[in-house]
Amino acid sequence: MSGILVIGEVENGALSAVSGELLAAAGKLVDEGVSGGVSLALMGDDLTGITAAHAPGADRVILMSNPALKDGGTGGYDAPVLAAAALNESTSPDVILFAKTDFGAVTGPRLAFKLGVPVAQDCVDVALDSETGRVAVTRPVFGGNALAVYGFNGDGAQIATIRPGVFDPIEGEGSGTVEEFDVSAAVAAVRTTLVETVLQESEGVRLEDADVIISGGRGLGGPEPFEQLQELANILGGAVGASRAACDAGWVDHSYQIGLTGKSVNPTVYVSIGISGASQHMAGLSGARNIVAINKDGDANIFKSARFGVVGDWEKVLPAFTATVRDLAG
Ligand SMILES: Cc1cc2nc3c(=O)[nH]c(=O)nc-3n(C[C@H](O)[C@H](O)[C@H](O)COP(=O)(O)OP(=O)(O)OC[C@H]3O[C@@H](n4cnc5c(N)ncnc54)[C@H](O)[C@@H]3O)c2cc1C
Repeated sequence: MSGILVIGEVENGALSAVSGELLAAAGKLVDEGVSGGVSLALMGDDLTGITAAHAPGADRVILMSNPALKDGGTGGYDAPVLAAAALNESTSPDVILFAKTDFGAVTGPRLAFKLGVPVAQDCVDVALDSETGRVAVTRPVFGGNALAVYGFNGDGAQIATIRPGVFDPIEGEGSGTVEEFDVSAAVAAVRTTLVETVLQESEGVRLEDADVIISGGRGLGGPEPFEQLQELANILGGAVGASRAACDAGWVDHSYQIGLTGKSVNPTVYVSIGISGASQHMAGLSGARNIVAINKDGDANIFKSARFGVVGDWEKVLPAFTATVRDLAG
């Protein structure tokens, strides 16, 4: 057994940003003494555009090309799990890293179950425990109010999903080897078929990548105010997010949801409007550097985490706030 296997992700035929972040996490483990090198595995039906130069930090780039892995296998998780299990059998890595994306958060635990090994989800750090020689991972717990460090029991692969945005991707060009790994036998056992992928239309920057997020909750009272949030987000080059209450009410799609069961975000500025700041919402915000809260209840939990806060009715505060920001933005 040796080395670190990074299960990267491919978007439109190119490496996605989280792949670089995973390689940085793997690089940290190598610096701390994990031996055996770093392999980056990529899944897709056409990976011809990918070269070693795209993967700085990877000693090996392993391409798993198969029609069953179309769109990275995101349409059905059977194929990626079977492909990753076959690669694990062939390479026996010590550590397997996924990103905590829709893909990794499902594929990682399913692979762990198939291999009978532990998995740690939503890790914000990885380190080598010099006493045990095993990996120690750091995870937010208690709704993001505390961090806990976990180790892995047993002998098999140590699987972790890494929260997007916590590692800076390695800069520069890679110089590893590139090889194909044939998964046709493995994916022959697939029981689901990807029929169609429908891309959801979204305006502007993605929530996960946004440096500024304007987020709304139940206090907005309906779907229409989200247009005002979008207006402010457009001025600041940001994205719109929401609490689960707003999503559950059908005011915005669930892809806007931030929190424990939604997305984890890492913006420089997070503007929360009509959101109480329940621990499950805050769990997605541990990477936010400055929280600005607008809430009419001065005792709302959000103010405990807010750097700046306005106690007031958003209908009065937001138009003035947006007008001022527009003036400042020139
Ligand atoms: C297992 C589990 C997982 C969960 N996962 C998530 C998750 O991922 N993300 C998430 O967000 N929640 C999640 N929740 C739900 C969470 O517990 C809260 O219920 C939810 O976050 C509340 O959303 P909210 O703050 O928009 O609504 P509320 O808690 O109802 O708060 C609305 C706020 O708006 C303020 N307000 C009202 N009117 C105005 C006004 N005119 N101007 C200004 N302020 C006003 C109120 O003072 C209040 O603070 C989860 C819950 C569970 C049990």
